[in-house]
Amino acid sequence: MTVNPPKDNSKEPEPSVGGQKKPCRACTDFKSWMKVQKEATATTTTQGLHKNSAIECEPPKQDLECPLDRQELGRNTWSFLHTMAAYYPDQPTSTQQRDMGHFIHLFSKFFPCEECAEDLRDRLKTNQPDTRSCYSLSQWFCRLHNDVNIRLGKPEFDCSRVDERWKDGWKDGSCD
Ligand code: FAD
Repeated sequence: MTVNPPKDNSKEPEPSVGGQKKPCRACTDFKSWMKVQKEATATTTTQGLHKNSAIECEPPKQDLECPLDRQELGRNTWSFLHTMAAYYPDQPTSTQQRDMGHFIHLFSKFFPCEECAEDLRDRLKTNQPDTRSCYSLSQWFCRLHNDVNIRLGKPEFDCSRVDERWKDGWKDGSCD
């Protein structure tokens, strides 16, 4: 059974030993995937090839180190921006505040998704980065990201949980 949606396989690596597809990492959680990997390796080495069609699917694209598409670029960039804000000083010097403002303006000139960058430059005209503290900057990025979320029809994020998401981990301990 193929679990992932069909996609262009022309650049994907050949399936593993004997033409058999690898267990699908993208279809399951990491621990289960490792367990299945181990079992599959043990079976193929000790008993010859073993067909398990229930877990067969294409390898995930992110393992192939391909150039980023817009979604991937966006996701990775937000990760960087929110994490940068999370580790920004609580009491930045005036130089740090000015440098962060410059960084964000320069970033908006070079972000490689042109439509996104143009939208960001427009927003910066009326919404200057709040670089006064770690909290201010984290909240500013959160609101900015929410404005983009709204524009794209995505759900808004609860900005009171921005530190849980990007610095401390969720209060339920799921990231510990
Ligand atoms: P993303 O929106 O990338 O979010 C990643 C993770 O961040 C989420 O899973 C969530 O845990 C967390 N998160 C979500 N919202 C917030 C928030 N408000 N605060 C803190 N954390 C949050 N794409 C376009 O198509 N058009 C655009 O004009 C556009 N402009 C962009 C401008 C910038 C500056 C950036 C960095 C990206 C832009 N993108 C744009 C990409 C777009 O925002 C998404 O990154 C992309 O669509 C992938 O979305 P996603 O659903 O994976 O989650």
